[in-house]
Amino acid sequence: MGILSVGAVLPLGALEVLSNGKTTPKFPVFFFGHGSPMNAIEQNKYIDGWKKSIQHLETPQAILCISAHWLTKGTKVTAMELPRTIHDFGGFPDELFAVEYPAKGDTALAHHIAEHLNLGDVGLDEEWGLDHGTWSVLKQIFPLANIPVLQLSIDYTLSHAEHLELGAKLEALRERGVLIVGSGNLVHNLRAIDWNNPESGYDWAIEVQENISKELKLKNFEFFKNIEQRGAAYKNAIPTPDHYWPALYSLAAMGKDEVSFFNEYYALGSLSMHSFKSAS
Ligand code: ZN
Repeated sequence: MGILSVGAVLPLGALEVLSNGKTTPKFPVFFFGHGSPMNAIEQNKYIDGWKKSIQHLETPQAILCISAHWLTKGTKVTAMELPRTIHDFGGFPDELFAVEYPAKGDTALAHHIAEHLNLGDVGLDEEWGLDHGTWSVLKQIFPLANIPVLQLSIDYTLSHAEHLELGAKLEALRERGVLIVGSGNLVHNLRAIDWNNPESGYDWAIEVQENISKELKLKNFEFFKNIEQRGAAYKNAIPTPDHYWPALYSLAAMGKDEVSFFNEYYALGSLSMHSFKSAS
């Protein structure tokens, strides 16, 4: 496949790793700014950045994705053996609706997440699957779809502080062969999109993203708990929290690791494609 380093692939699946108590090298945590669903099938600088970001990554036993596009009342984790590919968008070409991402699920890992991480009342979901927040990124970085994928939903009734608490509890999975991936956009205002400026950001978008990047580096959780109350620029940049929340999970799951950035690009005025991962 060319993208992944080989030789360090562990013979155990997440099930065995979890059940026999063995640990793996600690996997890094990622947050991908996913932007348009078309990024699933295009080749552009965002995709180049995504691929480069995983260049030296060992093959995980499973991927747990927190996508901006699965909001639920109560937290859920996908628990089916074969999650379907969900085409949760409209107005795009047939080619995009034809995309399938046939990764398997991991029922044992779903049970472990629901029962052993103290996340609270986590429902085992048999109906969702993989939405485009998940597969638009994974299709590009793991095109073979040969790693099991689970999604953890975002409980829209929780506060930012509570999302950070849940994210911190996911950190333990990193030593169990699980790659944690948040997928959203830090600055995301679809109503303010400027089609005439595909590669630039409004002043308020740049101001907010630069502040967020600075605070991410400092691991300043307090800053992220009341982001909407920080002024007009923030109300424009984060008019709704759905695409912001996945970043909180990634940030918290990093623990003490340092943050490194990639894809520090603005798009269409009101989107930032800024992505980050833990340095280790
Ligand atoms: Zn999205």
